[in-house]
Order: sequence, then structure tokens, then C-alpha cells
Amino acid sequence: MEKRAERWNDWKWQFSHRITTSGQLKGVIPLDEAERGDIDKCLEHFRMAITPYYASLIDPSDPNDPIRMQAVPSPRELTPSEDDMGDPLGEEHDSPVPFVVHRYPDRVLLLVTFQCSMYCRHCTRRRAVGEEDKIIPERALQRALDYIRSRPEIRDVLISGGDPLTMSTAKLEHIVSSVRAIEHVEVIRIGTRVPVVLPMRVDEELLSMLRKYHPIWINTHFNHPREVTPEAKRACEAIVDAGIPLGNQSVLLRGINDDAETMRELLLKLVKMRVRPYYLYQCDLSQGIGHFRTRVEEGVEILKSLTGRISGFAVPKFVIDAPDGGGKIPIQHDYVLKKDDREVLLENWKGETYRYPQPK
Ligand SMILES: *Cc1c(COP(=O)(O)O)cnc(C)c1O
Ligand code: SF4
Repeated sequence: MEKRAERWNDWKWQFSHRITTSGQLKGVIPLDEAERGDIDKCLEHFRMAITPYYASLIDPSDPNDPIRMQAVPSPRELTPSEDDMGDPLGEEHDSPVPFVVHRYPDRVLLLVTFQCSMYCRHCTRRRAVGEEDKIIPERALQRALDYIRSRPEIRDVLISGGDPLTMSTAKLEHIVSSVRAIEHVEVIRIGTRVPVVLPMRVDEELLSMLRKYHPIWINTHFNHPREVTPEAKRACEAIVDAGIPLGNQSVLLRGINDDAETMRELLLKLVKMRVRPYYLYQCDLSQGIGHFRTRVEEGVEILKSLTGRISGFAVPKFVIDAPDGGGKIPIQHDYVLKKDDREVLLENWKGETYRYPQPK
């Protein structure tokens, strides 16, 4: 590993030195010929890219390392399950103009690039993401902005992709400032995994640009406590210090974070660096990621076991993004045991029962 490369802390160096072939990967983790062959087969369907930084977090001696499992293709991706879908969230159906998804009344998703610094094996949008390094063409951007301008009910624009922070600061500023110029847009959100996989991208140039367009909110995507490194911590704290509230959206992934102790450690590490856990997603039905799926009850149980035991703001909302465009549906343990006109019978976090009388 070129850990001591002179430009290690330069995000453009990290980006241009991403590991994209099995041959390069062999320099990081031991691979025999059969494993290399499997990876090459996967790469015919879904591409791989791993920043040298993120690759350096892999424990090469552990085939089930949680960082490795998120980044390195597995032959299980080639065994499709009958529930797999190309567009699991039905985003094409809710797209009034290309690159815009308008599902909820007051907010839209604006997909500005299909490029990411690391291609997560569990990606929901893997059908589009990483197919090609495509950023939104100027004409399509203008069309998307026209759409947002024509809908005064849109008050929250979520800039996502792909990862918008893989774009140059100048290109991103062009997009952010254009959205900010629309009078009825109150909040601009950015979805990015950069703090986790390319933390050096969070530099003064980026933050001083974003600060000009407040209120900006950012959501990132940590899945495992081992991702919380000094570099990631610096990036998150710099974002928050720039006045940007920073949330986290994790995906519940089998063999990676599907146990209460790992989840607890992750959530506590997040709040310690001022990142607010926002959503925990049930894994979607994207192609070739069935091996990451857990049973729905497992997520419910994990959150039940944490609720009441750690700070309320450290516990995310567990959601299923319903197939076919149903949107996010929160699910949790049912704390209401019984309910009628007179009273509600409730269970507390310790499993004790309490009565709350209804107003007469
Ligand atoms: C997730 C999502 C949003 C944002 O939803 P919040 O619950 O407000 O975070 C908006 N549009 C689409 C299509 C989404 O999938
Ligand atoms: S960063 Fe997000 S969009 Fe990009 S590959 Fe990972 S999950 Fe998909």
C-alpha cells in the first residue's frame, strides 16, 4: 500500500489512484487465482472503485472484514435472487424530468452525478451509479432547475447521485448556487459518502463555498464503527463547524452491522463527533445484493434493544424504502399493547407495562 505517498492527503490523488482492477486489489489483500477470477467476473456487471484510504482500513487477514465486504465484489453478487429489481425504489416512475425524483409534496431528489469515490457493493442505485462517470449535462440541469422553479411547493432540494462531492468545487457551486437562487427553496441537502471513503475531500475550499449558501444540511453514510477514523472525524467535525448539520444514514447489512453491539458502538461514535443518526435502512432489493439482506424483525429488535439504553438522539429511525416507489416507511417495535376509548396500555423500554388514561 502506498500509505506514505506524498499526496496521500490530496483528495484528487486519492480519487485518481482508486483500485479498480483485481490486479491492483492484489496489492492490498491476498487473492488467489480463483478469487481474482470471481472478482473479474463481477466486474463485468458492476464496477469496483476503492480509494487507497478506504482500502487501507481493510484487515487483509480477515475475509469477512466489514470494510472489505462493503468494497470488494463477492461472487454472491452473481447469484440473483428472485426478488431482485433493477429500479427497486421505482424512481423512474416518479421522475417528472430526467435527474429529478419528486415523490413527496415538498421536496425533490436532484441526481447530479452517477460517480462515486467508492462503489458500495450494497448500493441501491447500482443500476445507474458507476455505469459511467456521468455528471448531469448542463441542458438537463437547466431543465431540472426549470421544473423546481415551476413548483412553488418544493422547499427542500436533496442533491444526491452518485456522490455530488466527487465533482469539482466549481461545478458543485454552479449547481448549489443555481438551486439557492430559487426563491421558494428553503433548505438544500447534500447526500455524500465522502466523509467515510474520501475524508480529505472535505477541505477549506469546499466548506467556504458551501457556507455561502446556507441553510445547507448534509447526510452521510457510515455503516461500521471501524469507519470512524481520525481522518473521518476531522472531516465530520469540519462540516459541523461550518454550520452544516450532519446526519447519518446507515444500511443494515448482514455480516457487517446486523448486531446490537456493533450498531451501538457505531451510533455512540457518531454522536461523539456530532453526527446525528438519522435513518437506518432495511437493505433494498437491488440486483445481486440479496446476501446483505436481513429479516425485518432483526432491525426492529436491534433498535428496540438500544432504545432507552443510549441517548434518544443516538437512535436512528428504522425505515424500509418500499419497493415500487412506496417511499420510506418507518417501522419499530409496537409499544402500544392495547388501545381503546378509555385508556392506552403501553410497554416501556424495560418491558414493563403502564396505563395512560385517555381524556374523557
Ligand atoms: C429519501 C427521499 C427523500 C428525502 O426524504 P426525507 O424523509 O425527508 O429524508 C426525498 N425524495 C426521495 C425520492 C427520497 O427517496
Ligand atoms: S456512495 Fe451511495 S450512491 Fe455511491 S455507491 Fe455508495 S451507496 Fe451507492
